[in-house]
Amino acid sequence: MIRSIYEYLYSNSPKGKMANLSELADLLNQISKETWTAKYLSSVLNGSLKPSDKLLKTLKVLANKLDGQSPLQALNPRAITAYSINGNEDGVIIVDHSKQCPHCLVWFVGGPWNKKYCTRECKREFRKEWKS
Ligand SMILES: [Zn+2]
Repeated sequence: MIRSIYEYLYSNSPKGKMANLSELADLLNQISKETWTAKYLSSVLNGSLKPSDKLLKTLKVLANKLDGQSPLQALNPRAITAYSINGNEDGVIIVDHSKQCPHCLVWFVGGPWNKKYCTRECKREFRKEWKS
């Protein structure tokens, strides 16, 4: 996979191979938050090192990005049924994790990281129950 991406990006590049690989490393590191080097990619490209699982996954994300897909779509999100009260459209990709409201037990997504209850009403009711 790294060979086809390399050839797709750099087959007409006037720069040297290590300069191209350095640029490719930058692209991959932006996606993965890794610190891969041109030397590492060169070793993978010539077959002397096996690519890590993370590199393979990142190459796939980059390949899909080059195909015009967003990096989120390239992660193959799973379709689920969700209900939106904030005008989200069908097909939106939710990047947050769901939490369960301790009062009404509904599962919800969104709000600040420390948001615990689905609504203010649930927060109020839950506290009232514990006080009585
Ligand atoms: Zn609730």
